[in-house]
Amino acid sequence: MKNQCEKCGSTLNVEEVNEKGRSILLCRDCREGKRITIRDLLNAIRWDKRHDLDSYSIIFIHRTDEGNIKEIPYSSITEIAGGFFTYSYMGDEAIIPFHRVIQIKNNKTGDILIDRGLNRVKKKITK
Ligand SMILES: [Zn+2]
Repeated sequence: MKNQCEKCGSTLNVEEVNEKGRSILLCRDCREGKRITIRDLLNAIRWDKRHDLDSYSIIFIHRTDEGNIKEIPYSSITEIAGGFFTYSYMGDEAIIPFHRVIQIKNNKTGDILIDRGLNRVKKKITK
């Protein structure tokens, strides 16, 4: 299993660092004090030619199904706006505010770009 950043859950460029006398795992962005937003990540995937759009998926809390989570391929995103994105996937279209996004991951490499507590949500559902 890949090392995970203890702040944001990313598995990208994670290193052990010493913070306030204890060692913790941090990704490069968190080590450098950057605050990467969901919007930044979605746009970075879209515009960076090194990324293969088809290998990414977005996991979020689904509005119409309280407490449930949904996973869609990145390629089904139709618009990235100021506070939300829209998608069209298998006949389902919706507007998803960024705060509902739980995880963005690369299914080919297993890299997680951001993780806002998927495990916590899962526990809630299975209880
Ligand atoms: Zn991080």
